Amino acid sequence: MTVYTSPVPDQVIPAINAYSFVVSNPNGTLESYPILVDALTKRTITFGEWKNITRRWATGLASIGFNRGDVCALFSFNQVDYSATMFGPILLGGITTTVNSAYTADELAYQLQDSGASVIVTHPELLPIALEGARKVGLPASKIFLYGDKEVGGHRPYSALMPPVDTPESQLAPIVPLNGQAAIDTTCLICYSSGTTGRSKGVELTHLNFISNTCQVTPLEGDISFRENVVLAVLPMYHIYGIQLHLMYGVYNGVKTVVLQKFNPVDFLQTIQDYKIKSLNLVPPQILMLVKAPIVDKYDLSHVRFVMSGAAPCSSDLSQALMAKFPNVLFRQGYGMSEMSPASHVGLYHLPVHGSIGRVMPNQEVRLVDPETGKDAVRGERGEIWVRGPNVMKGYRNNVQATIDTIDSEGWLHTGDIAVVDAEENFFIVDRLKELIKYKGFQVAPAELEAILLANPSVMDAAVIGVENKEQATEVPLAFVVKAPGASLTEKDVQEYVASKVAAHKKLRGGVRFIEAIPKSAAGKILRKDLRVLLQEAPKAKL
Ligand code: AMP
Repeated sequence: MTVYTSPVPDQVIPAINAYSFVVSNPNGTLESYPILVDALTKRTITFGEWKNITRRWATGLASIGFNRGDVCALFSFNQVDYSATMFGPILLGGITTTVNSAYTADELAYQLQDSGASVIVTHPELLPIALEGARKVGLPASKIFLYGDKEVGGHRPYSALMPPVDTPESQLAPIVPLNGQAAIDTTCLICYSSGTTGRSKGVELTHLNFISNTCQVTPLEGDISFRENVVLAVLPMYHIYGIQLHLMYGVYNGVKTVVLQKFNPVDFLQTIQDYKIKSLNLVPPQILMLVKAPIVDKYDLSHVRFVMSGAAPCSSDLSQALMAKFPNVLFRQGYGMSEMSPASHVGLYHLPVHGSIGRVMPNQEVRLVDPETGKDAVRGERGEIWVRGPNVMKGYRNNVQATIDTIDSEGWLHTGDIAVVDAEENFFIVDRLKELIKYKGFQVAPAELEAILLANPSVMDAAVIGVENKEQATEVPLAFVVKAPGASLTEKDVQEYVASKVAAHKKLRGGVRFIEAIPKSAAGKILRKDLRVLLQEAPKAKL
């Protein structure tokens, strides 16, 4: 067995409530230090205010009967107080589940039901969808609260539940200690991911999982001074990449974080210029924009020093083009998945290896295993990345089978990603074994789109795969469809039908190919490899 580990020594990871960890203040952050700033409204939250809001929100939740193990759903665009609302339930020994803000009411309802959420905090713009999603699962409208300070249609801001700012400590809900094994076992966060197969599943991350990844990444920052750094938070805060970096790591280290509600090129560039942003955590299509879009030249981005890419593959050409255009910039990639809280690998800013996802992080064991033979790959050969460590999830919520299929009896998580490793132990992702499609870093689960297609009476059978779109540095979903006898169906019909049922990132942007039969194994499994071959042989033709 060949096990790869980090050149950096293992870190001490405290097994405590994740809230107690995040406020432990290792860098002596002043109470008055602004840790979160809304880029557009300029609303600022200091470290002291962050703690105050989080404790009072927890107290408000407790006052409506929210208890240990209960689940609160956050359904919103990025907010300056998103992290405080996320940690409120966590300090009570409860759970937060974060919902993609682009979801339809059906998609939201699925997550509410599956996670067992009993409270929702949403953005006023999303209130109609939140109400419909909640109605579908019987969650009372009185349990829906809002970001902001205004009541809308009888729905109160979440702050209406909170006791006054100067409430004495003794009257605030106590922090549930969760020391030792309790921190290892107790779930605090449920993110949704399709994993290696099937529909979206609830990834249960425990207090220890969540704390681990911040401890693992902190020693790999090179010469960044936390006090001088200014970070832009444009990654969505419902996804673990944004959660870990901006809601946990940023608060723990006392990093000034400027929050953008949503990504659009003008606000993005203007914010970088106005706030003299030093660190950007991005996905590859945003890096492509920095390299290619003419609008970028209108802004002064000279303060940007650190750019990290994650959530999807960033080619060597793209990172080299970025560093050539911005000579002051240091670049690295991180790699991981929701199931690893999320990162297992990260590059070093001062030693860029283009095209590589970096090296193994501390407290982490990694193997590369040949999926056909089950043997460890010889150096230079391809193998599936297997990961073991304290950041690996507890399992999928209410889904023992999916958990067993993903984490083996020795604790190795099988990622479904294929990589090679070089002599310096830099890892390179070369393929994906699993079904997952990544559109601009967002997950698209083929199984979900296939189920939607099969529900259409004009469709007899269907399969969805991801195809590369180089111009946009992303994959896009493409459907193979077998028409029902006598059905008349065009590509546009199918695309519009799917678009009416799903969040925008799941649209069939790769198009639709009509086909006589979906190739399947004897066990009825879709042979996606054969579909890829078909596409290569006849890329344009209607098959
Ligand atoms: P998620 O759970 O949404 O973070 O998705 C995890 C998956 O995204 C991984 O299993 C990979 O397939 C892909 N991914 C994440 N980071 C990278 C990266 N740096 N390079 C290539 N693929 C990545």
